[in-house]
Amino acid sequence: MRARPLATLVLSAEAVEGVRLASSSALPFEACGALIGEFYGTSARVARVRAGANLARDPSRSFDLDPALLVAAEDEARGVGLELIGIWHSHPNAPAELSTADRAADVPGGISLVASFAGGRLRELCAWSRANGTWQPVRVECASQTTRAPENRATRGR
Ligand SMILES: [Zn+2]
Repeated sequence: MRARPLATLVLSAEAVEGVRLASSSALPFEACGALIGEFYGTSARVARVRAGANLARDPSRSFDLDPALLVAAEDEARGVGLELIGIWHSHPNAPAELSTADRAADVPGGISLVASFAGGRLRELCAWSRANGTWQPVRVECASQTTRAPENRATRGR
């Protein structure tokens, strides 16, 4: 566990699009998955996201991320010199705030990203990091404006 909270979480355009697509296709249920990236200084960067099964009894109200996805994401991250830095999940029709259950969830890497939807559209991305046992808000920056738009993406992605 980190001793100091993160200041900034930077999301690549691919990461934002990955969360948006997985969340949209899961509606009206909550989607969830892993954040793969790296820590540097007081910031962290999400390079790629992976979606996993939501095993919650009522997936319209909560999420329970398939542990197999976390194992696979950790393996994938290690293979490319990155880390499993946290998890993400969507709120199909609620603000991007951590619920009591969200705060109690086991979050490898310590970063929790929430994608809030309203009317079927992505409204907000908010993140928190756990330090000294409490969740602190983290500023989210999207790198989409500095990288090429998804529709112009080269066919050979990284
Ligand atoms: Zn939640």
